[in-house]
Amino acid sequence: MALTGLKIQKLLPKTNCKECGSNTCMAFAMKLAAKKADLSQCPYASEEAKRVLGAASEPPVKGIALGSGSILKLGEETVLYRHEKTFVHQTALAINIDDTDSADAIDATLRQVREYVLERVGETIRIDMVAVTQKSTDCDSFIALARKAAEVSQRPLVIRSSDPGSLAAAAGALKGQRCVLASATPESIDNLLPAARDNGHILGVTAPDANTLAAMVVKIRDSGFNDLLLQFETHSVSEHFQTVTIARRAALKDSVKAMGYPHLCFVDTGDPLGDISAATAEINKYGGICVLPSFDPALLATLMTLRLNIYTDPQKPIQVEPKVYPIGDPEPSSPVFVTTNFSLTYFIVSGEIENSGTSAWLVVPECEGMSVLTAWAAGKFSGATIGKFCKEVGLEKQVDTREIIIPGHVAQISGELEEALPGWSIAVGPPEAADLESYIKSRKI
Ligand code: SF4
Repeated sequence: MALTGLKIQKLLPKTNCKECGSNTCMAFAMKLAAKKADLSQCPYASEEAKRVLGAASEPPVKGIALGSGSILKLGEETVLYRHEKTFVHQTALAINIDDTDSADAIDATLRQVREYVLERVGETIRIDMVAVTQKSTDCDSFIALARKAAEVSQRPLVIRSSDPGSLAAAAGALKGQRCVLASATPESIDNLLPAARDNGHILGVTAPDANTLAAMVVKIRDSGFNDLLLQFETHSVSEHFQTVTIARRAALKDSVKAMGYPHLCFVDTGDPLGDISAATAEINKYGGICVLPSFDPALLATLMTLRLNIYTDPQKPIQVEPKVYPIGDPEPSSPVFVTTNFSLTYFIVSGEIENSGTSAWLVVPECEGMSVLTAWAAGKFSGATIGKFCKEVGLEKQVDTREIIIPGHVAQISGELEEALPGWSIAVGPPEAADLESYIKSRKI
């Protein structure tokens, strides 16, 4: 839980020596509380102050790094709702393969995992993980499959078995790869905790109820191991939704450390609609890793788009690089449009120009990722700023045309832009991007 300035001040030497750059210890404490200073700036801070402040600055949901080279991160969350600040690490999506699947089906799934790419608003999105589930009793073939899955997919693994002996053996075979072992129960914890700890893996822990799960976590933490994921045993989407919400609230609001870990969930309702509703709930509410039962591109596109909406930082709009974009195959005489660098705006405007069949240049100045009217109101999309950007990128050398088409919503900047770009005429386009196609056709450009 965050400490107040008053509580922090009580931990400081209170000599007001000013060596930290603040006039008093209280002023320094207020800066620490606001995270605008670091305790290391006070040379006289006690070990007690370092310990207490260090613990208080840890995120309430522990950060977990997965995969060889720690390529995937989970946790480090600090808020219940994204608009309070932001969510930090998005839900990782994994595709499951069973060791009883046919060799052809396994090869196809691993290839699909490796090759699948979804493009959304300029982001390139891929599948994050593979889960390998043991359904047979053949430990050797389970281990061979886990090795193959790691090698072919080049993704971090969840390795899952109800047999603690097989899971521990697979953990040894994949030593150092920071896989998730799914999952230790109250009965198997004594076998699986050493397997995770000695081989550098993350341990999923599960129990029939939240109290038993919390007691297991406390016992594991007390043993000095802390790389954990929580897997809740629930029996319906609504029960799961409620349980994970209570757990996250306990971690964030009541500082219940045993609930302060990312979650692991296996989706497999046996019904495509059931799967999508379970996976959607998981992404909406704090999913750490969501394992899907099979590769389904329609399900993935839906879930990845949802995830992009939820895990985009609301304080940092998705932006495209400010520059002059060619749309289609433009020539120097092609028309020139201008819009802002908010990704959604850019992709809608460029899409509408493309749909019209016209090739054009699209000038996108730096607007800090704001949409047209917001950027104009903030002074980031004015005649002066657009004119300055056009000069900086050498637009006059790139194109022959001397007309620039501005969005209809900011018709009022045309005079200022004319002044900023001597020799250019300013045309006012439609207010809505949806009308660009008819505007282009009506002007025969
Ligand atoms: S350096 Fe430490 S003791 Fe000195 S004023 Fe700053 S906080 Fe207080």
